Amino acid sequence: MLINKSIKELSSLLMKKEINSVDLVKESYNQIEKIDNKLHSFITIREKKEVLKEAEIKDKERKNSSSIIYGLPFSIKDAYCTENIRTTAGNKILDDFFPPYSAAVFNKIIDSGSILIGKNNMDAWGHGGSTENTDYQPAHNPWDKTRIPGGSSGGSAIAISTRMVSFAIGEDTGGSIRNPSSMCNTSGLKVTYGRVSRLGNIAYASSLDSVGPMAKSVEDLSYLLEIMSGEDHLDSTSSRTEVIKYSQLLGQPIKGKIIGLPKEFFGKGLDPKIKKTILEATIIFERLGAKIKEVNFPHFVYGVSIYYLIALSETSSNLSRYDGVRYGGQRELFSEETKKRIILGTYALSAGYADKLYKKAQKLRTILIEEYENALKECDVLLAPVTPSLPAKIGELINDPLKNILEDLYTGTINLVGAPSLAIPAGFAKGLPIGMQIIGKKFAEKELLQIGYLYQRETDWHKRLPPVIET
Ligand code: GLN
Repeated sequence: MLINKSIKELSSLLMKKEINSVDLVKESYNQIEKIDNKLHSFITIREKKEVLKEAEIKDKERKNSSSIIYGLPFSIKDAYCTENIRTTAGNKILDDFFPPYSAAVFNKIIDSGSILIGKNNMDAWGHGGSTENTDYQPAHNPWDKTRIPGGSSGGSAIAISTRMVSFAIGEDTGGSIRNPSSMCNTSGLKVTYGRVSRLGNIAYASSLDSVGPMAKSVEDLSYLLEIMSGEDHLDSTSSRTEVIKYSQLLGQPIKGKIIGLPKEFFGKGLDPKIKKTILEATIIFERLGAKIKEVNFPHFVYGVSIYYLIALSETSSNLSRYDGVRYGGQRELFSEETKKRIILGTYALSAGYADKLYKKAQKLRTILIEEYENALKECDVLLAPVTPSLPAKIGELINDPLKNILEDLYTGTINLVGAPSLAIPAGFAKGLPIGMQIIGKKFAEKELLQIGYLYQRETDWHKRLPPVIET
């Protein structure tokens, strides 16, 4: 299968004309036609004929571009506006929304010559971690179809894991890139808040939302990050911090780097199989010359409560624009989950309660930031689990709201502090993938990618393909 190859390999084969984009696009559609009716990784798939025509033109015009992702098929979470292409954010309110403009990140990928295959399934508005809270069909994990693929960018992780596309763009407010990457055995990067423009992302919680790449390997992520990053004068929260050639800095030794294990992340509630997998990864890092050190993050246990207070307050404000007056007709189409979130968020912001809830959460957020900064004074990166449990059975989390919220235990806190975090495959238990996250200092994506790259050179977890590909 061609799409199984890395971005670098595909690009080199395309340049040498040993393969062409038409072949790649055909492969994408074959794979989708074969298995997506069981997995539901797409909400909208572009018309094959139209996309093949686009690929033909790309093949003809190849010599005019030096972009490494030129001619590669990709998909994007349906949370991003795409001009004249339906954009639903997973909710029927926007079922017939064809945006008049495209998200900044989408434009950057398209301007680099990649070919859009379709828009990926997601929990509506990003509300969820299972891709079941979608108004389209719930998505299934390609490693075990009776289980969730994680979420909310579940559709994108499935599409990569099953090689329907070469790479995808996801979005992470409290874990939505890392969680499905972990559950589907793919690699995903939640960038530092501000690294990538959020313009054209349908907002969930504006102070937490992060745009990021999802791919088959850390090497692929590094190429994508170079293209996606940078200041955008239309997003005042985007950063001027220099964009580095991340891909050219891979392979540098990590000898002497200190990897911190935040003690609190390995306590009660973590599946022992996940804990064991991550501790096994530390042996590989030690073999590469890194040192492992235990560090503290004392208020970490409050992270998920603070996350939900802030995320729901912000979403209640962001979603008020769908009041049925200006955008999208029927607000009764909000799902039960979304209505619950709007009600809780409005409550936390209302007079008389805001001081006790919202403001207190903001103060605690500052404490978490201080603790994160202190922990990273003692080490270069933190190593942590992504989720406390293996992928749940479909329906299990919907019927257990507390378990559902606890899935974000290790990820939501990282969005609160605005840090970058790389999720990569680290092993398997009961045939299900287990990921780990490497969390860094702000704008230290370079270090995360270097560490993750060396780990993937030593291991082959990320190369394993789900059984659904053979069936
Ligand atoms: N599961 C988390 C939530 O529902 C995170 C979702 C996300 O990152 N978009 O809030």
